[in-house]
Amino acid sequence: MNKLELRKSTSGLYYYEYESNIDRREKLSPHFGAYEFICKSGELHTVRIAVDVITLLEVLRWNFGLPITITSAFRTWDYHKSIYKKLGKPVVKNSQHIQKRDNYDEVIRPCTAVDVLIGKTIPTSQVIADVALGVGFTGRGITKDSFTHLDLGPERDWKY
Ligand SMILES: [Zn+2]
Repeated sequence: MNKLELRKSTSGLYYYEYESNIDRREKLSPHFGAYEFICKSGELHTVRIAVDVITLLEVLRWNFGLPITITSAFRTWDYHKSIYKKLGKPVVKNSQHIQKRDNYDEVIRPCTAVDVLIGKTIPTSQVIADVALGVGFTGRGITKDSFTHLDLGPERDWKY
């Protein structure tokens, strides 16, 4: 399966499903290509990304009038674990970047999180997080001078 499909999760969330080797010209919205949301693991995998994430990214981009770089979106469970192993930190099991709590979890949860960069150093991560809340991203992880984590979970924010 190399084509893009629109699906609905058991919780009623619409999401796009496609293989990570999808054609790089395939778009999910005017400014975001399907390949931008695949796991950075480099391995072939099935990507599942919530439609609302893409829609809100377009609104965010419009607000800043600047291109958005996605540094992390969908993650396979193994890749997600490897990130935390490298950091020497316990794995966050309820991350919205992943669809499984472990390799045995059969419930489909599309990715509802993205890490983004907008411009170079301006706007700051704090400004991005503030504007992101205004457009509908409820979870926001703020860094000093790099990416901003945005998700569709409960309304909250934190500093890395
Ligand atoms: Zn993140």
